[in-house]
Amino acid sequence: MIAAKRENIKMPNNFSYYSIREIYDQFTEYRKIDKSDITDQEYKILCEWLWYVPKNTVDRIKLDIEFILLSAKKSQVACYTPLKDVLNKKRGIIFISSILIAGMQSNLPRAKEEATKKFLHEVAHFELDHPSYESEAHKKQIEKEADELALKWFEQRSKMDPSKLV
Ligand SMILES: [Zn+2]
Repeated sequence: MIAAKRENIKMPNNFSYYSIREIYDQFTEYRKIDKSDITDQEYKILCEWLWYVPKNTVDRIKLDIEFILLSAKKSQVACYTPLKDVLNKKRGIIFISSILIAGMQSNLPRAKEEATKKFLHEVAHFELDHPSYESEAHKKQIEKEADELALKWFEQRSKMDPSKLV
């Protein structure tokens, strides 16, 4: 299993992708007000990040990952999410802070790129099926693996469609 995944990382040319429009249409549940409280702009940012993720991983994300966007929307200063609703069905949660979203709202391409890579890093932990780390050495190793896959995804997608660069 691990060997197969390692192979995958070495062959980024085999990745296929959803268009940005297909991504927008697939995650619309995040716009329902009872599900989350994210703004249209925050939803757009989530979709822009997911655009970098290969199709088969996006399909797995839909089933197994719940994104919790800590929205900067002023109407909500805190919120309660019953984990039972989320974890009974899904394997993991990725929390996205308003700082990461702010990176995408910056005018600096470098800030957008860094925010995108941070998002992809968290998705890479899921893709590589990383457990919680057991030691400092193990932590170092899995962080490196997640960084490498995130970078690979970012570069591969940017190369295929440079006009869509963040
Ligand atoms: Zn990490």
